[in-house]
Amino acid sequence: MSDTADILRLENLKVHFPTQGGLFDRVLSRPAGAVRAVDGIDLTVGRGEIVALVGESGSGKTTVGRVITKLCQPTGGRLLFDSRDMTSVRGFSALRPYRHRVQMIFQDAYQALNPRHTVFDSVAEPLWSLRLVKDGKELTGRVSQALASAGLNPPGDFFARFPHELSGGQRQRVVIAGALAVRPELIVADEPVSMLDVSIRAQILQVLVDLRDKHNMALLFITHDLPLAWLIADRIAVLYLGKLVEIGSADEITFNPRHPYTVALRNAVPKIRGDAHRGELPGLQGEVPSAARLPKGCRFHPRCPLAFSRCREEEPPSIEVGPQHMSACWLAK
Ligand code: SF4
Repeated sequence: MSDTADILRLENLKVHFPTQGGLFDRVLSRPAGAVRAVDGIDLTVGRGEIVALVGESGSGKTTVGRVITKLCQPTGGRLLFDSRDMTSVRGFSALRPYRHRVQMIFQDAYQALNPRHTVFDSVAEPLWSLRLVKDGKELTGRVSQALASAGLNPPGDFFARFPHELSGGQRQRVVIAGALAVRPELIVADEPVSMLDVSIRAQILQVLVDLRDKHNMALLFITHDLPLAWLIADRIAVLYLGKLVEIGSADEITFNPRHPYTVALRNAVPKIRGDAHRGELPGLQGEVPSAARLPKGCRFHPRCPLAFSRCREEEPPSIEVGPQHMSACWLAK
């Protein structure tokens, strides 16, 4: 183990998906384009830290999660876990120790669970496949422990149940238990509560926070919901069209946002406490632009004097606007 405080480090990470041109492009031999799903992001997650990655659909946040969990290969940049470069590590055997340490919780628990597997089988599967248990007794103990940690008590009552026999909240807890069973050091949770009732959300969030507190587990919490990110995270990173536009402590980003996109995200929320910035700029309007044809400037500050001049020529760098608070906007200084 390294002694660095960061468990995860992304350096200039890029994921570009090639697009096929139309018939005319092929006839004229025009080069195919690319969807820049993730376009050069730098991000760290400390041990025991909860970082929320916030953005609208299409911002690239799920792709970042898929790269970290090695479900998608980056086009460029580096993925370092515990100081080890994992960018080009591939193959089931080579990745086995990594999968032990990094787990993912998916948004749709119903799809994540095999309908023909019981709760016991679903939670036991990663323990068997990663060869983390010696015998059936140890397996039963680890499954019981994981179910109890995810708030399914008494665990034995759930062993023989199938996904269709569970409520939405219980299914999501089974998915969390499956991730916990291997005792990971980092969990990537992709919108883990967005499909649940509001009353269940708080319980699931509490389970995740308790796990961090008890096991010093790091969490990358992917969400489109800024207030939810503020509730759970230590730091918030805001992603727009594959780029990190703002990052800082959860309080700074929520109550003192400096990038117009973060302000627009806030203004899309009905009301949050301490709304000093509300009303300065409009909320989100229209569709997210296509990542295949990235616009210049930004669509969040229509009156910005730099939108058609400096910002069109030169991408704003990440500027320090407060203690550990960075914003990629020329006006943020
Ligand atoms: Fe948007 Fe660029 Fe103007 Fe900042 S400087 S508000 S990023 S157009």
